[in-house]
Amino acid sequence: MQGVTLTAAPDVIELPALALVLLVGVPGSGRSAFARHFAPDEVFDARAFPDAEALRAAVAARLAAGELAVVISPAVRPLERAPWSALAREHDIKAVAVLLDEDRAVLEARAGGSLSREELIAQVSELRRTAGGLRAEGFRQAWHLRGEQIGRVGVRRVPLRVDRRDLSGPFDLIGDVHGCLEELRDLLTRLGYVLDGESVTPPAGRTAVFLGDLTDRGPDSAGVLRLVMDMVASGAALCVTGNHDEKLLRALSGKAVKALHGLDVTLAELQEAGPAFQEQVRTFLEGLPAHLVLDGGRLIAAHGGLPAHLHGRGSGRARSFALYGDTTGERDELGLPVRRDWAAGYAGAPLVAYGHTPHASPRWVGNTVNLDTGCAFGGALTALRYPERETLSVPARAVYAPPPRPLPPGQPQE
Ligand code: MN
Repeated sequence: MQGVTLTAAPDVIELPALALVLLVGVPGSGRSAFARHFAPDEVFDARAFPDAEALRAAVAARLAAGELAVVISPAVRPLERAPWSALAREHDIKAVAVLLDEDRAVLEARAGGSLSREELIAQVSELRRTAGGLRAEGFRQAWHLRGEQIGRVGVRRVPLRVDRRDLSGPFDLIGDVHGCLEELRDLLTRLGYVLDGESVTPPAGRTAVFLGDLTDRGPDSAGVLRLVMDMVASGAALCVTGNHDEKLLRALSGKAVKALHGLDVTLAELQEAGPAFQEQVRTFLEGLPAHLVLDGGRLIAAHGGLPAHLHGRGSGRARSFALYGDTTGERDELGLPVRRDWAAGYAGAPLVAYGHTPHASPRWVGNTVNLDTGCAFGGALTALRYPERETLSVPARAVYAPPPRPLPPGQPQE
């Protein structure tokens, strides 16, 4: 478990910027002092609440808003900690424990009669006995700080990979490319990007955002990967993972996958391109976020869409939704996964730009826009200019793969 068996005491511990942090320690272990690493509205001290239910409700409200919460609780026993890891999981947020394990002599001097000596000794030994099991209790990280380390250590917050609120754009969000290299070059040119051989220069200040599914079905998946990887490396573009990208990553990582829906051709192209390029692709795909929160939280990029309660979350549930959309687990008469229309129920404030489900034209539903216009199926490749909220499409040069059924109509912006 990370941090639990520290050989050298760190100067700084790293915590996820979005987490439920449980500060565990017996009275006198310095929990309140340690809480000063956090803002007052982030800290929830069990002693300040009338009962457990009031404390839980206050923390839950904070997690629901996608904000970090620090809970000060004795919680020396696993049973007392269990509700906190469960609450974090319920909100698709990581639970992290920080154990403050002060020397017994210091505790006895500080306790000042609030606990009997026997009770103090019992609690300290319970804490130490169970510290090694925190991972199994559902805490993704646990830091075990001892003695003088408690007062000395600093705290650094590490933003989640999906959190790029610091980037304000303007952006050009691009739907499923699926190996359509010529159309991608056409679209980037129409958007004002200057393509000169391998190099791509965006219009002043703009950044492209690829919504995933770069490969399969179209004629040049390797070429699309090369172009997008270069753009991401130079800072001209960002990219999120699509379900096809995930499957390609699994194949390149040596996992058994069914090479369907054009993956067989992509893998043959990559075979041709050689092992060094395959390794670059694998590393690139591995580093992609499952979705992105952009522009101070006002814009979400997610391949399959994302409901508001999963924005900015790093959980498996958030990842799965962003990659595959809202699947029911059933298959239709063509053997394709049945997807719910998540956008119809979306009531969040940020604009969600996504792809994944091809339509004949961009589909605006409330504050969501689906930019997958089925280029590889002979449709078009579409971009959204943000914050302008204008779409731009270039037609496919050919039908590269037969659509399983005619593309349903899109929907104009209200
Ligand atoms: Mn797709």
